[in-house]
Amino acid sequence: MLPKPSLKFSEQIVCANVLVLAVKMSERVFNFSAGPAMMPEPVLERARDEMLSFGGSGMGIMEMSHRSGLFGEVLGRAGSGLRTLLELPANYKVLFIQGGATLQFSMVPMNLLAAGATAQYVVTGQWGKKAAAEAARFGTAEVIYNGEPEGFVSVADQDELRLSSAAAYVHYTSNETIDGVEFDYDLDAGGVTVVCDASSNILSKPIDIEKYALVYAGAQKNIGPSGVTVVIVRDDLLKRTLREMPKVLSYEAIAANDSMLNTPNTWGIYLISLVCEWLQEQGGVAAMEKRNAEKAGILYDAIDSSDGFYRGHAERRARSRMNVTFRLSSPELDEKFCAEAELLGMNGLRGHRTVGGIRASIYNAFPRAGVEYLVEFMNDFAARN
Ligand code: PMP
Repeated sequence: MLPKPSLKFSEQIVCANVLVLAVKMSERVFNFSAGPAMMPEPVLERARDEMLSFGGSGMGIMEMSHRSGLFGEVLGRAGSGLRTLLELPANYKVLFIQGGATLQFSMVPMNLLAAGATAQYVVTGQWGKKAAAEAARFGTAEVIYNGEPEGFVSVADQDELRLSSAAAYVHYTSNETIDGVEFDYDLDAGGVTVVCDASSNILSKPIDIEKYALVYAGAQKNIGPSGVTVVIVRDDLLKRTLREMPKVLSYEAIAANDSMLNTPNTWGIYLISLVCEWLQEQGGVAAMEKRNAEKAGILYDAIDSSDGFYRGHAERRARSRMNVTFRLSSPELDEKFCAEAELLGMNGLRGHRTVGGIRASIYNAFPRAGVEYLVEFMNDFAARN
């Protein structure tokens, strides 16, 4: 990880050329990117070591048939790793699908929302809004909570949601990656089918899976590389065949073929298996929750104690532990902050292109030392500006 030079930040910035060199020499930076995001270093090292020959086979995973016994074991380990970490009961299936979380915006209604039927959408950020828009192509997407007029700064309370038992399902986004707002509870919808986009906080804490019928997550934040999406689905949903559709988009068909209806993202699934092993070694998702709470707490404390120099985006109760969003007094100062941070080996801090500001994404694999380094820089930057 990046060595901390003994110079003051201001001196380091003056010596930018020297510093760029230092960063290059240390190879790795603190990468605050929202996804694809930092992977656990031991996972990357192991993947490097096994790149040319996996399991003594004389070939790498990327070169190996997905129908081979060795890959079958990898697929099994990725699935059982997720099952163990999330304590999935036997009636939930784990599927590995391509097309990102964005394809799930369509696959969910294609599979679960009959033409003429209604699904309810809780919209607390830009991704939930996109999911609702996509569902409206297949049936009625009733938005029962919309945080947009307030600027997506909060989440819904359980008791303000008018859930309907007639709805095909209710969909929400447990963590909104762009806006930095996160639910701190599992939606309890009684008998209503709950579908959750957990792309940016899956595995960051334990969840009560039995409250959900379907959870999906693009891997590239907390689970592995981009190009593979995890879908956890309760098996009674697999029987809801509603319309003619391509087989490759049918949960039932994918589950019946153990995610091998066609060639899956073998490399992505392999890395998921390694990330699951790493998470187990770290103490599982309960240990992650504790660490993530501490990391986010350090950052929010720095924002709150800055006398308004840094202004947090989300309301306190909805603050994300994964994506910490804040602003300075002007877009120019935001930019200066990001540019200086980059010189100091902190990358990926610019907010999403649609909203600007600063976003520090600190998923499971992001080290606490990186958060402390950022806070040190924030205090220094505030004093100088
Ligand atoms: N949902 C959420 C919460 C996300 O953060 C993202 C990606 N950042 C998406 C959906 C879309 O994911 P993908 O790019 O994998 O389609």
